[in-house]
Amino acid sequence: MGNDRKILMENIVYLDGDFVPASEAKISVYDHGLLYGDGVFEGIRIYNSRVFKLDEHLQRLYDSAKVINLKIPLAFGEMKEKILETLRRNNIRDGYVRPVITRGPGDLGLDPDKCKKASVFIIADKIALYPEEYYENGLNVVTVPTRRNAPEALNPRIKSLNYLNNILAKIEAKNANVIEAIMLTNDGYVVECTGDNIFIIKNRIVFTPPTYIGALNGVTRDVTMSLARNMGLTMEEKIFNRYEVYISDECFLTGTAAEIIPVVKVDGRIIGDGRPGSITQELVKSFRYLTQTTGTPVYE
Ligand code: PMP
Repeated sequence: MGNDRKILMENIVYLDGDFVPASEAKISVYDHGLLYGDGVFEGIRIYNSRVFKLDEHLQRLYDSAKVINLKIPLAFGEMKEKILETLRRNNIRDGYVRPVITRGPGDLGLDPDKCKKASVFIIADKIALYPEEYYENGLNVVTVPTRRNAPEALNPRIKSLNYLNNILAKIEAKNANVIEAIMLTNDGYVVECTGDNIFIIKNRIVFTPPTYIGALNGVTRDVTMSLARNMGLTMEEKIFNRYEVYISDECFLTGTAAEIIPVVKVDGRIIGDGRPGSITQELVKSFRYLTQTTGTPVYE
């Protein structure tokens, strides 16, 4: 009985054409996704039985795969259908879905041509949300010493399985007792956070760093830029450094997990009046409305 219950409660994972219980979803220790971080992935939210910005996430997935010369063995439409089916099999109405494409099993060398077939798996699960108090009171963040990968080396616009750069920064954030960290480029420009994009507002002008300096082209970032423009605000993609952050009126982060989250302290400097800014709060409200009312239906 205990065992049956466990089986019933187990997540169902899509893996290379089959839907299997999570405990049976296994990949080879020779998979280059594991051995070398050679692969790509996405993180996508489901709100109110609809997938938010599914096409945008999938486009980024296929773009990332193309840049690393990885052929995804499913067509765009098939991938979409497998994602929706995985959500249905897990009865997810509010949650998160993670498609992952690895280079597949090869030998112990780096050569991707030794990997005969890419592996595809899709995990659908609940999402651990940030506590509401972070949205009400804002985050305290710090800048960390680990620099964001240089785009000339490993372009952060590729959403690859190689997240060690971000993990090193996350460790530094945790050492400083904060949950998110600002990362800089080698030249010292603010670029993004370990798993979020960053925005600042000064005199009602909204700024975010351009992705070409080394930030992920965040789906939430794109949505936020549109919302800001629709609110009649001037929206600029522009490089800036920590000075501009410290003297900004408002600051916030964007990401699939965090949504839009206010920042009230950076490296010990209070941002604005130390409370989530009014424009940020407007954006949070508009963003939440959008997530609840748009998206690809899962169950129709
Ligand atoms: N930057 C990094 C490094 C990330 O991992 C993420 C989360 N995927 C983001 C930004 C935010 O992107 P999105 O809004 O598409 O989730």
